[in-house]
Amino acid sequence: MSNKRVVTRTCPLCEAGCGLAITVVDDEVTHIRGDLDDVFSKGFICPKGSTLKQLHYDPDRLRMPMVKRNGVHQQVSWAEAWHVVAEGLTSVINSHGRESIGTYLGNPGAHNLSALTFNRVLLQAIGSRQRFSASTVDQIPKQVSSGLLFGSASSVPVPDLDRTQYLLILGANPYESNGSLCTAPDFPGRIEAMQSRGGKLVVVDPRKTRTAAQAEEWLPIRPGTDAFFLAALANTLAEGGLQVLDERLGAYLAGVDEVVAALAPFTPEAVASTTGIDARTTRRIAGELRDSGSAAVYGRLGTCTSSFGTTASWLVDVVNIFTGNLDRVGGAMFPLPVAGSGNTRGQSGVGKGFRTGRGFSRVSRHPEALGEYPAAAMAEEIETPGDGQIRAMIVVCGNPVLSTPNSDRLAKAMDDLEFMVSVDMYLNETSKFADVILPPPSQLQRSHYDLALLTFAVRNVANYSEPVLPLAPDTPDEWEILAKLSAIAAGMGVDADVGNVDDLALGTLVQGATKDSSTNVYGRDEQELVAELSKSGRRGPDRILDFMLRIGPFGDGFGSSPDGVNLDKLIAAPHGIDFGALEPRLPEVLRTPSGKIELAAPSLINDLSRLESRLAESTKSDDSDQMVLVGRRHLRSNNSWMHNIEVLVKGKDRCTLQINPDDAQRLGVSPDTLVRVKSRVGVVDAPVEITDSIRRGVVSLPHGWGHSVEGTRTRVAKMHAGVNSNLLTDERELDPLSGNSVLNGIPVVVERII
Ligand code: SF4
Repeated sequence: MSNKRVVTRTCPLCEAGCGLAITVVDDEVTHIRGDLDDVFSKGFICPKGSTLKQLHYDPDRLRMPMVKRNGVHQQVSWAEAWHVVAEGLTSVINSHGRESIGTYLGNPGAHNLSALTFNRVLLQAIGSRQRFSASTVDQIPKQVSSGLLFGSASSVPVPDLDRTQYLLILGANPYESNGSLCTAPDFPGRIEAMQSRGGKLVVVDPRKTRTAAQAEEWLPIRPGTDAFFLAALANTLAEGGLQVLDERLGAYLAGVDEVVAALAPFTPEAVASTTGIDARTTRRIAGELRDSGSAAVYGRLGTCTSSFGTTASWLVDVVNIFTGNLDRVGGAMFPLPVAGSGNTRGQSGVGKGFRTGRGFSRVSRHPEALGEYPAAAMAEEIETPGDGQIRAMIVVCGNPVLSTPNSDRLAKAMDDLEFMVSVDMYLNETSKFADVILPPPSQLQRSHYDLALLTFAVRNVANYSEPVLPLAPDTPDEWEILAKLSAIAAGMGVDADVGNVDDLALGTLVQGATKDSSTNVYGRDEQELVAELSKSGRRGPDRILDFMLRIGPFGDGFGSSPDGVNLDKLIAAPHGIDFGALEPRLPEVLRTPSGKIELAAPSLINDLSRLESRLAESTKSDDSDQMVLVGRRHLRSNNSWMHNIEVLVKGKDRCTLQINPDDAQRLGVSPDTLVRVKSRVGVVDAPVEITDSIRRGVVSLPHGWGHSVEGTRTRVAKMHAGVNSNLLTDERELDPLSGNSVLNGIPVVVERII
């Protein structure tokens, strides 16, 4: 008789974190649907959620390590792979020092409990400042601006979606992406609920996205000019004297007058020709934001991936503050994460603050931000001789060759490395350069808790998932792979016991907490706490998570709050625990030296001068022949991966160059013909899709495609290869405050192929 069970788990694919109900018959997954009882997602899933099954059974997914010999990857045992890793890393460290080891941490790591608890251990073991990640591809500006304003890069205000009456979205398309830096399963449903209660959605985007199509109003802004529009909104709001601040926020604000003075040049009239949004509209939107009772501005990818990414991200919060909507029900609010967040750590209401530039990259002197350098600078750090030149890379769950600017240059640089390790489940466009590929188990074989993404959730919730399927015999768990890699990098050799690395990782956390007077375990005996955590037999990320839950704001404090949460209680709640709607957190959430929201950080005020100098040069006419490239996202896509799942890529080619009918006519191109797109760094040929959902002068290619290269093993993706938009993006173009890549508004020339 077959053994049938239905288990729940959180989908780890995107930031929405939907609950899944998974039917398993005799260790075979037969069906995946939305978990109707999930406290947060209530049954919602997108087309990707059910494909965890196809991902698990994908024959191209690596189950055993691969070692490259004579240019060809061959499957080897784990023992053999570890020996090759030890030999390769030791050789590079001995010859060139630790600074010659670079790391790149990919986006899936943010959705992965093992990576979130053990990547830190790996970075410390390597001991190099040559650290890069997907953060500088699309999100770090928001973290830097939040750090400067509120003292912690984790204190990102999110729109209070379920209670707001007015939502202004810039550069985000949650109908395709499901939200980002704003964790909200069924984001579209939450928008539609707002509209049903009489609320209004306004979308600012060069494309009439699916989200814009749902909006009461679409403002087709010129790419890369969000900061100008936001500055004009803030300028307009300040004209009335900001009386709204006196009532509630004023006491917590520092630097208002300085910001108002610095915004003076950015009147709606002054920026109108730059943004393409007329002054009257800007003034009306400012008034609507101020007068709607509750309103939130939410900016995402488009605001971050411009050369003013940090300034635009800051201005989003300035506008939320100037309308009196920060930290107010229905406005932009701070989540209170249940475990492991930087915004609940340390003394309430005051802190050391936040700064960047504690170091500078070796070649172009980019300032460090959040302990890393710009991903766009990786290639030059590999290519350029001298002390600290990167000779070896460790890439964890990332595909930077498709995801970062000027891919061609990075691919050539990676080919020249002396040694490379990829922790990846696919032989893809990046791991093909690795000497060793270490495959983690599939998503269904891991436990899960959204340690990072619940920091940005629109409700305070917690949801833990046990592995659905067992590990294959003699296969390490993902945390064990990262722990072993750490041990080898630290010089402990291939026989190092990962259990010792685990004990050390937990011990360091426990020691820190017991010495921190702001925690609920201050002064407690470390060994006693470790023993208590170990009683269950848990190891690795689960034991660390239990600790983080217990010392968190809703935690049991190891007995001091007996009704509080711990991992046992979460396991007993398979649909999650809802800790309620967001509540105002000022001033407790602040970690700035002044104990106030530091509105006028010098770097941001100075950047307004740079913004002003761009006003004059960015008044290009719509009739100009010059075009700019923007990206786009599709619901069935997930950055550069998941393209090997047939059900997600079948049908009409989605990797098309969208172009406005007027531009198509001017260029003499017709639908489905190929055009050539050229930028400073590269050329691609792409099929044309003519659509009036994009403004004139702008073309759009989705990112994450370009799977036709040799040496990979993703057979389905190859059949739907598309072209790589990052062959066109320019690694020299960065947001100087955060190091984020500029991925939108790339100047291009589009030509008909005769
Ligand atoms: S929206 Fe995101 S979390 Fe939800 S099912 Fe889709 S991929 Fe998974």
